[in-house]
Amino acid sequence: MQAASQSPPAPGPATHGLTLPASLPSLTQALDVSDCAILISDEQRRIVYTNAGFERLFGYPLHEARGRRPRDLLLGKSFSPDALAHIDEQLARTGRYTGEALCYHRNGDPIWVSLVCNIHPPPQPGRPQGDAGCAVVTLTDLTPTKHHEALQSRVLEAMVSEVPLPQLMALVCAEVERIAPDVIASVLRVDGNGRLRVLAAPSLPPALGAAIEGRLIGPQAGSCGTSAFLGDPVTVTDIATDPLWQDYHPLFIHAGIRACWSSPIKNLAGQVVGTFAFYFREARGPSNLHLRLVEVCLHLCTLAMARDTEQNRIHQLAYYDTLTQLPNRTLFADFARRALASLRETRMPQAALLFVDLDRFKQVNDSQGHAAGDALLCETANRLRAHLGPGDIAGRLASDEFVLLLPGAGSDQAVAMAQRLLDSIAAPFVHQGLQHLPQASIGVALYPEDGTDIPSLLSHADQAMYAAKKQPSSRWCRFSPELGVQAQERMAMERDLREAIARRQLHLNFQPQVLGRHTHRLHGVEALARWNHPEWGAVSPARFIAVAEDAGLIQALTHWLLDAACAQMARWRAAGLAVPQLAINLSAHNFHDPSLADQVGAALARHALQPRDLMLEITESVMMDASAATTANLHALHARGMQLSLDDFGTGYSSLSHLHRLPFSELKLDQSFVQDLQNSDSATALTRSVLSIARSLDMKVVAEGVETREQCEWLQEHDCAVMQGYLFCRPVAAAQLEEWLAAQ
Ligand code: C2E
Ligand code: CA
Ligand code: CA
Repeated sequence: MQAASQSPPAPGPATHGLTLPASLPSLTQALDVSDCAILISDEQRRIVYTNAGFERLFGYPLHEARGRRPRDLLLGKSFSPDALAHIDEQLARTGRYTGEALCYHRNGDPIWVSLVCNIHPPPQPGRPQGDAGCAVVTLTDLTPTKHHEALQSRVLEAMVSEVPLPQLMALVCAEVERIAPDVIASVLRVDGNGRLRVLAAPSLPPALGAAIEGRLIGPQAGSCGTSAFLGDPVTVTDIATDPLWQDYHPLFIHAGIRACWSSPIKNLAGQVVGTFAFYFREARGPSNLHLRLVEVCLHLCTLAMARDTEQNRIHQLAYYDTLTQLPNRTLFADFARRALASLRETRMPQAALLFVDLDRFKQVNDSQGHAAGDALLCETANRLRAHLGPGDIAGRLASDEFVLLLPGAGSDQAVAMAQRLLDSIAAPFVHQGLQHLPQASIGVALYPEDGTDIPSLLSHADQAMYAAKKQPSSRWCRFSPELGVQAQERMAMERDLREAIARRQLHLNFQPQVLGRHTHRLHGVEALARWNHPEWGAVSPARFIAVAEDAGLIQALTHWLLDAACAQMARWRAAGLAVPQLAINLSAHNFHDPSLADQVGAALARHALQPRDLMLEITESVMMDASAATTANLHALHARGMQLSLDDFGTGYSSLSHLHRLPFSELKLDQSFVQDLQNSDSATALTRSVLSIARSLDMKVVAEGVETREQCEWLQEHDCAVMQGYLFCRPVAAAQLEEWLAAQ
């Protein structure tokens, strides 16, 4: 079409014989109805025609556009001269150009368009240069699509840079409100209890956000609550009259809000996790633009919330103890560090760190199984939690170790709290019909006196806890520098003992046990462990045995002991020496090991000894935890023919009535009774009754620590079967024992 004429294209031949409907009598009118902007330019590329869509899109009426070049009118500087030359070249060659372009409205607003330009007549090979033909250009508004792209890329970018969920959702709302200024956007989360939580509603008046926060979802709970409940979009075009809004509408109408359209946000499994809503200031429904915006946003919200859930899960796994849900060591240390940092800003910075450790936890685990152990830990965590004040921080460090940081607490508050916690933990606890009487020990370290950072406070509270476990008087202890020294000594001893056991640097002494009636005759020999440290000299077994128990070295020590004792006994047997039996000391910890009986049996077999050659001494403390494992071990040892002796009798808690159910054949009266025989009536009375009850239970009594003639005579008068003590012989090396035997 040649566009030399000033009039718009007319119906006629150009309609190719089509008959237009009566409502659109001319093609011009038809073109005006189109959403697209259409322009026609002449051979000089000057505009000769624009449709009504052109004016709607760019703001120029035909009389302003006419005679101007489209590129001058619309493109501004958005195309470089090179790019324009490229378009011209393509038009001249093919007669057609399609692409996207950034144009400008008459008022300067940028508008993204897709454009299609056709030259008429199309170029012919050999047509003279300069005869450019006229151009028909169709421009379609791409701005909404471009907005969506921008929205999407901005939100995705923020997601990649780990912006927290509420900020991310606020960004979505702000972007949406920029594209569609007639809406107020909000994003809500639905929590695990079916309640709405406002994630972002940056333009909603705060009072309205507060009114929504915490509301239950349901079949008639505003647009969002209902949409979340149904899992479908809910459009309320007038909240004044809609029954769904019954509970809210006065507040919202007062704030100038009339309509609300809410859509559910679903996770990848299809569950509703939130809502995305548009509020309108007039009674209306969503437009096409709104529909498309929401489609894009729902997708982004789903992604963002899925990412958030995943991150929370990873965070939870990495920083919280899965059993008790308390912060783990890392997170506790982090929280505690921050708390100390902000305390330092205050006028009176003080804090207390409490180290809580359950007593005999391992026994519960070993004897009643891990489920019982887990239940006890959870219960303990709950009891601790119940005492936390605002700002207090709790954590679980390791199996049965818990910590609390009490910012602001001084010595008195720390002690009061320790006492409260101990009482609370000590309350009976029933698991699967079994009652437990849990007990804990607490170490206290104060900031700043006992440490100025978390690692030193933790270590000092730990040392104090350790001291609390050792002291009988109370179950809590405050850190003191002496404890630090003790702890260092203990660590040094632990290190050296480990090495001494490994290198077999311990040795045994032997002390004879003589018959009460004929004190020159041997009942047996007790093997006692000795350790000569190159620097410290002889270390008391009472000390190093305790260290071995704490440090988990007792198994190795007992393994050595069994072998060394059996080897010696075998040598005496081989030499024809009449040692009726060898007594060895086992620790309560050995009785938690299910393989104990096998170990003892193997040691006997290695040295070709009989079960009756050994007497196994166990202190009364073993009875304190008459746990299943311990009782099973006692019976297993007895079943193999090994004899059992209850050591240090009278110092612990075992009742005689309890005793007859356990397979002990011997009872060792503690030396404290023997020592008091001369000067304490109660010791005398007690010893008398122990002797008579033991007799009735058919158990032999061995009196320990007999040092004087008088003690020996008293015991003989009262029919004590066996005696042991310095009066007869001190614990000595094997060679000296042989000399002693020869002298008898
Ligand atoms: P125990 O089993 O009660 O051993 C008796 C303790 O009394 C020994 O102390 C012994 O030297 C001491 N004693 C013996 N006669 C007299 C006396 O007339 N007067 C006084 N005052 N003391 C006497 P020792 O050797 O220091 O052992 C202390 C504890 O260490 C033992 O008490 C035992 O519980 C533990 N122990 C020693 N060796 C071993 C071992 O090989 N394994 C285990 N698990 N514990 C051991
Ligand atoms: Ca003993
Ligand atoms: Ca003893």
